[in-house]
Amino acid sequence: MTEKYRITRTCDQCNHFREAFISKREAAFELVDYDKLLGTICRQCGSATFSSSRQLPDLDLELMLEWATNANLSLMEQDEELMLAEEKYLPFILELLDNHPILERKQHMLMDALCIMVYDITEFEPPGEKETLKKRVISEINLRKDKLELADEWIMSYIKKVVYPQLGL
Ligand SMILES: [Zn+2]
Repeated sequence: MTEKYRITRTCDQCNHFREAFISKREAAFELVDYDKLLGTICRQCGSATFSSSRQLPDLDLELMLEWATNANLSLMEQDEELMLAEEKYLPFILELLDNHPILERKQHMLMDALCIMVYDITEFEPPGEKETLKKRVISEINLRKDKLELADEWIMSYIKKVVYPQLGL
């Protein structure tokens, strides 16, 4: 893991720009102290208001497993399941659900992420687009109905409304 990921901060007052580089793991879990790396005030004008950005790495199985087994790690402050609801993460999600002793809460989030994938395709893709992927995800969810039931309270009702009928629920 030698790849480096960029964080930036631009002063809201004078546009002074600073950047620093962090590891993939630090970037994935936002284990980064912006103040320490970039200072608490603008070097140029002394202002303390900034706009920040963080380059997000693609997650790999190793990082996702660490996330799924450690209650203290999160991928973003919120909306982790939205971030995971991507085709590229599907194999990792299934691998974690089936073959690893992961935390209950993270298991619920992974099931939620699968539902969000179906929701996103249904709502945002042109009709017929990604139909194969949608069918695949639906069958993967149906293979794990027990886990879906456990995750039920986690899943937003607007997601359920669109997704559950497609599961035959
Ligand atoms: Zn400034």
